[in-house]
Amino acid sequence: MKAIINGQLFTPQAVADNGVVLIDGETIAAVGPAHMIEIPSDAQVVDAGGRRIVPGLIDIHMHGLLGHSCMGQGVAEVAASLPRYGVTAFCPTTITAPMDRVFQALKEIAAVIDARPRGARILGIHIEGPHLSPKRPGMAPADIQHPLTWEEYQRMQEAAQGHIKMITFAPEEGDAAALIPRLLEQHVLPVLGHTDASFEQVSEWVKIGLSHVTHAFNAMRGFHHRRPGALGAVLLHDELVTQLIADGHHIHPGAMALLWKLKGPTRMVLISDAIPYAGMPSGEYDWEGYHLFLDGDTSRLEDGTLAGAIALLNQDVITLVERVRIPFPDALTAATTTPAQLIGHGDRLGRLAPGYAADIAILEEDGSAWQTWVNGEIVFAADA
Ligand SMILES: [Zn+2]
Repeated sequence: MKAIINGQLFTPQAVADNGVVLIDGETIAAVGPAHMIEIPSDAQVVDAGGRRIVPGLIDIHMHGLLGHSCMGQGVAEVAASLPRYGVTAFCPTTITAPMDRVFQALKEIAAVIDARPRGARILGIHIEGPHLSPKRPGMAPADIQHPLTWEEYQRMQEAAQGHIKMITFAPEEGDAAALIPRLLEQHVLPVLGHTDASFEQVSEWVKIGLSHVTHAFNAMRGFHHRRPGALGAVLLHDELVTQLIADGHHIHPGAMALLWKLKGPTRMVLISDAIPYAGMPSGEYDWEGYHLFLDGDTSRLEDGTLAGAIALLNQDVITLVERVRIPFPDALTAATTTPAQLIGHGDRLGRLAPGYAADIAILEEDGSAWQTWVNGEIVFAADA
Protein backbone atom coordinates (compact mmCIF):
# COMPACT_ATOMS: atom_id res chain seq x y z
CA MET A 1 0.00 0.00 0.00
CA LYS A 2 0.98 3.60 -0.61
CA ALA A 3 -0.58 6.74 0.80
CA ILE A 4 -0.49 10.40 -0.17
CA ILE A 5 -1.28 12.47 2.92
CA ASN A 6 -1.58 16.09 4.01
CA GLY A 7 -2.95 17.64 0.84
CA GLN A 8 -5.93 19.67 -0.25
CA LEU A 9 -7.98 17.02 -2.01
CA PHE A 10 -10.04 17.60 -5.15
CA THR A 11 -11.70 14.48 -6.52
CA PRO A 12 -12.29 16.89 -8.53
CA GLN A 13 -15.74 17.85 -7.27
CA ALA A 14 -15.51 16.80 -3.62
CA VAL A 15 -13.02 18.87 -1.66
CA ALA A 16 -11.29 18.03 1.62
CA ASP A 17 -8.53 19.77 3.54
CA ASN A 18 -5.97 17.39 5.03
CA GLY A 19 -6.96 14.75 2.48
CA VAL A 20 -5.56 11.27 1.96
CA VAL A 21 -5.37 9.00 -1.07
CA LEU A 22 -4.68 5.35 -0.35
CA ILE A 23 -3.26 3.33 -3.24
CA ASP A 24 -3.23 -0.42 -3.67
CA GLY A 25 -1.01 -1.41 -6.60
CA GLU A 26 -2.27 0.42 -9.70
CA THR A 27 -5.59 1.39 -8.18
CA ILE A 28 -6.98 3.89 -5.70
CA ALA A 29 -8.25 2.06 -2.62
CA ALA A 30 -9.66 4.97 -0.61
CA VAL A 31 -9.98 8.76 -0.77
CA GLY A 32 -11.10 11.21 1.87
CA PRO A 33 -10.27 13.41 4.84
CA ALA A 34 -7.51 12.04 7.09
CA HIS A 35 -9.80 11.27 10.03
CA MET A 36 -11.86 8.89 7.88
CA ILE A 37 -9.05 6.82 6.39
CA GLU A 38 -6.94 4.28 8.18
CA ILE A 39 -3.41 4.08 6.76
CA PRO A 40 -1.78 0.63 7.19
CA SER A 41 1.37 0.87 9.32
CA ASP A 42 3.55 -0.59 6.56
CA ALA A 43 2.28 1.80 3.86
CA GLN A 44 4.78 3.92 1.93
CA VAL A 45 3.75 7.50 2.74
CA VAL A 46 4.20 10.66 0.64
CA ASP A 47 3.55 13.95 2.44
CA ALA A 48 1.98 16.40 -0.04
CA GLY A 49 2.91 19.33 2.21
CA GLY A 50 -0.50 20.97 1.96
CA ARG A 51 -0.42 21.07 -1.85
CA ARG A 52 -3.40 20.22 -4.07
CA ILE A 53 -3.99 16.52 -4.77
CA VAL A 54 -5.99 16.17 -8.01
CA PRO A 55 -6.78 13.55 -10.65
CA GLY A 56 -4.08 13.46 -13.33
CA LEU A 57 -4.93 15.87 -16.16
CA ILE A 58 -6.12 14.46 -19.51
CA ASP A 59 -5.23 16.31 -22.73
CA ILE A 60 -7.11 14.96 -25.76
CA HIS A 61 -5.73 17.52 -28.22
CA MET A 62 -2.00 18.14 -28.14
CA HIS A 63 0.80 18.04 -30.72
CA GLY A 64 3.91 17.82 -28.55
CA LEU A 65 6.13 19.72 -26.13
CA LEU A 66 9.76 20.46 -25.21
CA GLY A 67 10.97 19.78 -28.75
CA HIS A 68 9.15 16.43 -29.07
CA SER A 69 6.45 16.01 -31.73
CA CYS A 70 3.37 13.78 -31.81
CA MET A 71 3.86 13.33 -35.60
CA GLY A 72 5.78 10.06 -35.21
CA GLN A 73 8.03 8.29 -32.76
CA GLY A 74 8.54 11.48 -30.73
CA VAL A 75 5.29 10.46 -29.02
CA ALA A 76 7.35 8.30 -26.65
CA GLU A 77 9.20 11.42 -25.39
CA VAL A 78 5.93 13.36 -25.29
CA ALA A 79 4.48 10.65 -23.00
CA ALA A 80 7.61 10.78 -20.84
CA SER A 81 7.53 14.62 -20.60
CA LEU A 82 3.85 15.33 -19.93
CA PRO A 83 3.85 14.26 -16.25
CA ARG A 84 6.05 17.25 -15.41
CA TYR A 85 2.92 19.31 -16.21
CA GLY A 86 0.57 17.08 -14.21
CA VAL A 87 -0.76 15.36 -17.34
CA THR A 88 -1.24 11.60 -16.96
CA ALA A 89 -3.11 10.72 -20.17
CA PHE A 90 -3.36 12.20 -23.64
CA CYS A 91 -4.34 11.73 -27.27
CA PRO A 92 -1.36 12.48 -29.55
CA THR A 93 -2.77 14.74 -32.24
CA THR A 94 -1.53 14.78 -35.84
CA ILE A 95 -1.52 17.87 -38.05
CA THR A 96 -2.22 18.70 -41.66
CA ALA A 97 0.53 17.24 -43.83
CA PRO A 98 0.65 15.40 -47.17
CA MET A 99 -1.06 12.00 -46.73
CA ASP A 100 2.21 10.03 -47.16
CA ARG A 101 3.56 11.88 -44.15
CA VAL A 102 0.34 11.26 -42.19
CA PHE A 103 0.44 7.49 -42.92
CA GLN A 104 4.09 7.31 -41.90
CA ALA A 105 3.40 9.23 -38.67
CA LEU A 106 0.46 6.92 -37.84
CA LYS A 107 2.64 3.81 -38.26
CA GLU A 108 5.28 5.26 -35.96
CA ILE A 109 2.78 6.39 -33.32
CA ALA A 110 1.10 2.96 -33.36
CA ALA A 111 4.45 1.26 -32.74
CA VAL A 112 5.07 3.57 -29.77
CA ILE A 113 1.61 2.86 -28.33
CA ASP A 114 2.11 -0.89 -28.64
CA ALA A 115 5.47 -0.61 -26.86
CA ARG A 116 3.67 1.02 -23.86
CA PRO A 117 6.17 3.78 -23.09
CA ARG A 118 6.73 5.07 -19.57
CA GLY A 119 4.92 8.25 -18.56
CA ALA A 120 1.50 9.52 -19.47
CA ARG A 121 -1.01 7.01 -20.87
CA ILE A 122 -1.70 7.20 -24.59
CA LEU A 123 -5.47 6.96 -24.99
CA GLY A 124 -5.54 6.80 -28.79
CA ILE A 125 -4.67 8.99 -31.75
CA HIS A 126 -6.49 12.20 -32.64
CA ILE A 127 -6.36 13.09 -36.35
CA GLU A 128 -6.52 16.82 -37.16
CA GLY A 129 -6.15 17.38 -40.90
CA PRO A 130 -5.94 17.36 -43.82
CA HIS A 131 -9.72 16.84 -43.85
CA LEU A 132 -10.48 20.42 -42.91
CA SER A 133 -12.41 23.17 -44.64
CA PRO A 134 -10.10 25.00 -47.07
CA LYS A 135 -11.90 28.12 -45.80
CA ARG A 136 -11.00 27.44 -42.14
CA PRO A 137 -7.67 25.58 -42.16
CA GLY A 138 -6.15 27.58 -39.29
CA MET A 139 -2.38 27.55 -39.66
CA ALA A 140 -2.49 24.78 -42.28
CA PRO A 141 -2.42 25.39 -46.04
CA ALA A 142 -5.81 25.30 -47.78
CA ASP A 143 -4.70 23.54 -50.96
CA ILE A 144 -3.95 20.10 -49.50
CA GLN A 145 -7.21 19.86 -47.58
CA HIS A 146 -9.65 17.28 -48.97
CA PRO A 147 -12.88 15.64 -47.80
CA LEU A 148 -12.64 12.72 -45.41
CA THR A 149 -13.80 9.50 -47.13
CA TRP A 150 -14.47 6.04 -45.73
CA GLU A 151 -11.63 4.62 -47.83
CA GLU A 152 -9.15 7.10 -46.46
CA TYR A 153 -10.38 6.56 -42.90
CA GLN A 154 -9.80 2.81 -43.32
CA ARG A 155 -6.30 3.33 -44.73
CA MET A 156 -5.41 5.61 -41.83
CA GLN A 157 -6.82 3.21 -39.26
CA GLU A 158 -4.87 0.36 -40.86
CA ALA A 159 -1.62 2.37 -40.68
CA ALA A 160 -2.47 3.22 -37.06
CA GLN A 161 -3.14 -0.44 -36.12
CA GLY A 162 -6.63 0.54 -34.98
CA HIS A 163 -5.38 3.21 -32.55
CA ILE A 164 -7.27 6.17 -34.05
CA LYS A 165 -9.78 7.38 -31.44
CA MET A 166 -10.87 10.82 -32.71
CA ILE A 167 -10.99 12.57 -36.09
CA THR A 168 -11.44 16.32 -36.42
CA PHE A 169 -12.88 17.10 -39.85
CA ALA A 170 -15.19 19.41 -41.76
CA PRO A 171 -18.33 17.30 -42.43
CA GLU A 172 -19.58 19.77 -45.06
CA GLU A 173 -16.77 18.79 -47.45
CA GLY A 174 -17.79 16.13 -50.01
CA ASP A 175 -19.85 13.35 -48.40
CA ALA A 176 -17.92 13.47 -45.15
CA ALA A 177 -21.04 14.10 -43.04
CA ALA A 178 -22.23 10.57 -43.89
CA LEU A 179 -19.23 9.25 -41.94
CA ILE A 180 -20.53 10.55 -38.60
CA PRO A 181 -22.68 7.47 -37.78
CA ARG A 182 -20.20 5.08 -39.41
CA LEU A 183 -17.30 6.33 -37.28
CA LEU A 184 -19.44 6.06 -34.15
CA GLU A 185 -20.12 2.40 -35.00
CA GLN A 186 -16.34 1.89 -35.03
CA HIS A 187 -16.04 3.59 -31.59
CA VAL A 188 -14.17 6.49 -33.19
CA LEU A 189 -15.32 9.96 -32.16
CA PRO A 190 -16.25 12.23 -35.09
CA VAL A 191 -15.21 15.75 -34.14
CA LEU A 192 -16.53 18.90 -35.80
CA GLY A 193 -13.73 21.34 -36.41
CA HIS A 194 -11.98 23.64 -38.85
CA THR A 195 -15.41 24.00 -40.39
CA ASP A 196 -17.29 26.56 -42.46
CA ALA A 197 -20.64 24.83 -41.87
CA SER A 198 -23.87 26.69 -41.31
CA PHE A 199 -26.05 26.58 -38.21
CA GLU A 200 -28.53 24.39 -40.11
CA GLN A 201 -25.89 21.87 -41.22
CA VAL A 202 -24.47 21.41 -37.74
CA SER A 203 -28.00 21.06 -36.31
CA GLU A 204 -28.67 18.21 -38.80
CA TRP A 205 -25.42 16.44 -37.86
CA VAL A 206 -26.36 16.55 -34.18
CA LYS A 207 -29.42 14.44 -35.14
CA ILE A 208 -27.16 11.74 -36.63
CA GLY A 209 -24.88 11.55 -33.61
CA LEU A 210 -22.39 14.41 -33.74
CA SER A 211 -21.45 15.12 -30.12
CA HIS A 212 -18.02 16.72 -30.02
CA VAL A 213 -16.33 19.87 -31.27
CA THR A 214 -12.67 20.86 -31.64
CA HIS A 215 -11.61 24.18 -30.04
CA ALA A 216 -14.82 26.25 -29.95
CA PHE A 217 -14.53 29.68 -31.60
CA ASN A 218 -11.21 28.89 -33.30
CA ALA A 219 -11.31 27.83 -36.97
CA MET A 220 -15.09 27.73 -37.38
CA ARG A 221 -17.74 29.93 -38.97
CA GLY A 222 -18.57 32.60 -36.41
CA PHE A 223 -21.82 33.89 -35.01
CA HIS A 224 -24.06 36.44 -36.72
CA HIS A 225 -27.60 37.07 -35.50
CA ARG A 226 -29.10 36.34 -38.94
CA ARG A 227 -26.61 33.57 -39.77
CA PRO A 228 -25.69 31.93 -36.46
CA GLY A 229 -23.14 29.68 -38.21
CA ALA A 230 -21.38 26.62 -36.83
CA LEU A 231 -20.54 28.55 -33.67
CA GLY A 232 -24.21 29.37 -33.03
CA ALA A 233 -25.07 25.67 -33.23
CA VAL A 234 -22.18 24.75 -30.95
CA LEU A 235 -23.36 27.27 -28.37
CA LEU A 236 -27.01 26.21 -28.60
CA HIS A 237 -27.04 22.41 -28.69
CA ASP A 238 -26.54 20.69 -25.33
CA GLU A 239 -25.58 17.49 -27.17
CA LEU A 240 -22.34 19.12 -28.27
CA VAL A 241 -19.47 18.80 -25.82
CA THR A 242 -16.79 21.24 -26.87
CA GLN A 243 -13.05 21.68 -26.49
CA LEU A 244 -11.63 25.01 -25.41
CA ILE A 245 -8.08 26.33 -25.68
CA ALA A 246 -7.88 28.25 -22.40
CA ASP A 247 -4.44 29.80 -22.83
CA GLY A 248 -5.87 33.32 -22.54
CA HIS A 249 -4.75 34.21 -26.08
CA HIS A 250 -6.90 32.11 -28.42
CA ILE A 251 -10.16 33.37 -26.91
CA HIS A 252 -11.11 36.51 -25.03
CA PRO A 253 -11.98 35.83 -21.36
CA GLY A 254 -15.46 37.22 -22.04
CA ALA A 255 -16.03 34.65 -24.79
CA MET A 256 -14.70 31.91 -22.52
CA ALA A 257 -17.11 33.04 -19.81
CA LEU A 258 -20.02 32.98 -22.27
CA LEU A 259 -19.15 29.46 -23.41
CA TRP A 260 -18.78 28.33 -19.82
CA LYS A 261 -22.17 29.78 -18.91
CA LEU A 262 -23.82 27.80 -21.71
CA LYS A 263 -21.88 24.53 -21.35
CA GLY A 264 -20.47 24.21 -17.83
CA PRO A 265 -17.81 21.74 -16.68
CA THR A 266 -19.53 18.58 -17.94
CA ARG A 267 -19.82 19.83 -21.53
CA MET A 268 -16.43 21.50 -21.77
CA VAL A 269 -13.07 19.85 -22.34
CA LEU A 270 -9.98 21.92 -21.75
CA ILE A 271 -7.25 21.17 -24.26
CA SER A 272 -3.77 22.59 -24.66
CA ASP A 273 -3.43 22.30 -28.46
CA ALA A 274 0.23 22.57 -27.50
CA ILE A 275 2.85 22.53 -30.26
CA PRO A 276 6.14 20.62 -30.06
CA TYR A 277 7.87 23.78 -28.88
CA ALA A 278 5.59 24.34 -25.89
CA GLY A 279 7.75 24.77 -22.81
CA MET A 280 10.71 26.02 -24.88
CA PRO A 281 12.31 29.51 -24.86
CA SER A 282 11.01 32.27 -27.13
CA GLY A 283 12.44 32.28 -30.64
CA GLU A 284 11.94 30.93 -34.16
CA TYR A 285 11.32 27.24 -34.78
CA ASP A 286 10.50 24.97 -37.73
CA TRP A 287 7.78 22.30 -37.48
CA GLU A 288 6.61 20.10 -40.38
CA GLY A 289 7.27 22.87 -42.90
CA TYR A 290 5.83 25.68 -40.75
CA HIS A 291 8.09 28.51 -39.58
CA LEU A 292 6.94 29.58 -36.11
CA PHE A 293 7.58 32.66 -34.00
CA LEU A 294 7.28 32.08 -30.26
CA ASP A 295 7.07 35.20 -28.09
CA GLY A 296 6.58 33.72 -24.63
CA ASP A 297 2.76 33.93 -24.84
CA THR A 298 1.86 32.64 -28.31
CA SER A 299 3.11 30.75 -31.35
CA ARG A 300 2.41 32.45 -34.68
CA LEU A 301 3.17 32.20 -38.37
CA GLU A 302 4.91 35.16 -39.98
CA ASP A 303 1.53 36.67 -40.96
CA GLY A 304 0.40 36.65 -37.32
CA THR A 305 -1.91 33.61 -37.54
CA LEU A 306 -1.95 31.72 -34.23
CA ALA A 307 -0.19 28.39 -34.77
CA GLY A 308 -1.19 26.12 -31.89
CA ALA A 309 -0.52 27.04 -28.28
CA ILE A 310 2.49 27.02 -26.00
CA ALA A 311 0.73 26.74 -22.62
CA LEU A 312 0.20 23.24 -21.24
CA LEU A 313 -2.98 21.96 -19.65
CA ASN A 314 -2.01 22.70 -16.02
CA GLN A 315 -1.52 26.36 -16.93
CA ASP A 316 -4.83 26.45 -18.81
CA VAL A 317 -6.70 25.30 -15.71
CA ILE A 318 -5.19 28.18 -13.74
CA THR A 319 -5.85 30.67 -16.57
CA LEU A 320 -9.52 29.71 -16.51
CA VAL A 321 -9.66 30.17 -12.74
CA GLU A 322 -7.84 33.50 -12.76
CA ARG A 323 -9.17 35.14 -15.93
CA VAL A 324 -12.72 33.76 -16.04
CA ARG A 325 -13.26 33.27 -12.29
CA ILE A 326 -14.24 29.62 -12.71
CA PRO A 327 -14.05 27.69 -9.40
CA PHE A 328 -10.98 25.43 -9.35
CA PRO A 329 -12.95 22.14 -8.99
CA ASP A 330 -15.01 23.04 -12.07
CA ALA A 331 -11.99 23.98 -14.20
CA LEU A 332 -10.39 20.74 -13.05
CA THR A 333 -13.48 18.71 -14.00
CA ALA A 334 -13.15 20.01 -17.57
CA ALA A 335 -9.55 18.77 -17.66
CA THR A 336 -10.13 15.38 -16.00
CA THR A 337 -13.58 13.81 -15.59
CA THR A 338 -15.19 15.24 -18.71
CA PRO A 339 -12.45 14.26 -21.20
CA ALA A 340 -12.22 10.79 -19.59
CA GLN A 341 -15.96 10.25 -20.07
CA LEU A 342 -15.95 11.68 -23.58
CA ILE A 343 -13.50 9.12 -24.88
CA GLY A 344 -14.90 6.14 -22.99
CA HIS A 345 -12.62 5.93 -19.95
CA GLY A 346 -15.02 7.46 -17.45
CA ASP A 347 -15.16 4.31 -15.31
CA ARG A 348 -11.39 4.19 -14.68
CA LEU A 349 -9.82 7.62 -15.30
CA GLY A 350 -10.48 11.27 -14.46
CA ARG A 351 -11.47 10.99 -10.80
CA LEU A 352 -9.94 10.24 -7.44
CA ALA A 353 -12.26 7.48 -6.26
CA PRO A 354 -11.95 3.88 -5.07
CA GLY A 355 -11.49 1.53 -8.02
CA TYR A 356 -10.08 4.25 -10.28
CA ALA A 357 -6.54 4.13 -11.67
CA ALA A 358 -4.01 5.78 -9.38
CA ASP A 359 -3.26 8.58 -11.87
CA ILE A 360 -2.68 11.56 -9.61
CA ALA A 361 -1.13 15.00 -9.80
CA ILE A 362 0.07 16.97 -6.78
CA LEU A 363 0.05 20.61 -7.82
CA GLU A 364 1.32 23.89 -6.42
CA GLU A 365 -1.10 26.82 -6.11
CA ASP A 366 0.16 28.20 -9.46
CA GLY A 367 -0.62 24.91 -11.24
CA SER A 368 2.94 23.66 -11.58
CA ALA A 369 3.36 19.98 -10.81
CA TRP A 370 5.20 18.90 -7.65
CA GLN A 371 4.64 15.19 -8.20
CA THR A 372 2.77 13.07 -10.75
CA TRP A 373 1.66 9.46 -10.49
CA VAL A 374 0.55 7.06 -13.22
CA ASN A 375 -0.77 3.60 -12.36
CA GLY A 376 0.32 3.93 -8.73
CA GLU A 377 3.93 4.86 -9.58
CA ILE A 378 5.64 8.25 -9.28
CA VAL A 379 6.58 9.26 -12.85
CA PHE A 380 7.60 12.84 -12.08
CA ALA A 381 8.91 14.58 -8.97
CA ALA A 382 9.98 18.24 -9.03
CA ASP A 383 12.46 17.70 -6.23
CA ALA A 384 13.96 14.49 -7.66
ZN1 LIG B 1 -4.55 21.21 -32.90
